[in-house]
Amino acid sequence: MKQLFVTLFCATLLLTGACSRQEPAPAPAAQRLKVVTTLFPLYDFARNIGADLVEVNLLLPPGVEPHSFDPQPDDILRINRADLFVYTHPAMEPWAVRVASAIDTARVKIIDASAGAKLRQATAAYPQADDHDHRHDEAIDPHLWLDFSNAEVMVDNLAVAMAAADPAHHDTYLANARSYREQLAALDEKYRSTLAGCPNKVLLHGGHFAFGYLAARYGLDYRAAAAVSPDAEPTPTRMADLVRQMRANNLRYVFSEELVAPRLAETLARETGAAILPLNAAHNLSREEFAGGVSFIALMERNLTNLVTGLGCQ
Ligand SMILES: [Zn+2]
Repeated sequence: MKQLFVTLFCATLLLTGACSRQEPAPAPAAQRLKVVTTLFPLYDFARNIGADLVEVNLLLPPGVEPHSFDPQPDDILRINRADLFVYTHPAMEPWAVRVASAIDTARVKIIDASAGAKLRQATAAYPQADDHDHRHDEAIDPHLWLDFSNAEVMVDNLAVAMAAADPAHHDTYLANARSYREQLAALDEKYRSTLAGCPNKVLLHGGHFAFGYLAARYGLDYRAAAAVSPDAEPTPTRMADLVRQMRANNLRYVFSEELVAPRLAETLARETGAAILPLNAAHNLSREEFAGGVSFIALMERNLTNLVTGLGCQ
């Protein structure tokens, strides 16, 4: 009956030309693979791999700072309605491991996207005498997606999980993943060739230690105000030390992070006369960016533009 109505409706509209263009029909909502991801990079990777075969939901609402996220009963319900629940690493979302007992794992497959990635130790990356706040769940630096070769591994893990959960579209998932990995490899190559020419290699960040992977990959000397999680305030000694380093290296720019007030970067800029440039670690998007459909690769391109200015690569 419904189909007959649609046919008649279109037959009428055909006279006005409105139904004359044939678009490929997306899979009906009920047949689409349902994927829930924690952070934005996973969400964007899943969208690129699944296209219109999947319905991807970002668990963390846009604008929410992810290190302090605590899932609510509603979040557990959303995960239980999915086919796949994908998180970054237990060091990034320790709660993802904790809530596993509340998830119907006979139905929902839980995916640790970091399997097979090259992980870095947070303690080695942020050696500080005044870091009394060290916690065991911070032993691994969880920002692994900012090494784009790791991002490729995460894409592969997602694609394999999606293909296993929806074998009818196995080849499409793997082909889409291959093409997205090529975009990540091109981004990696662009970072490598662009940043190789920067006279200044010191990346000074008035935020938490999010860019250790990126700095290591492109030979930058990364110094951040706070540790791998932004919940601990840097000590006055740490801030004074950063001011000293900025002066010693003649740094004219300090980078600020997304989603939190750029207070630390502002303090460092005020003390040294440096200018502030944003650097987005892509944990999550602001509401405006999310509504505007900003992609992971677009965020990384914007970061590269700011790095070129900040490190004097022009
Ligand atoms: Zn972080």
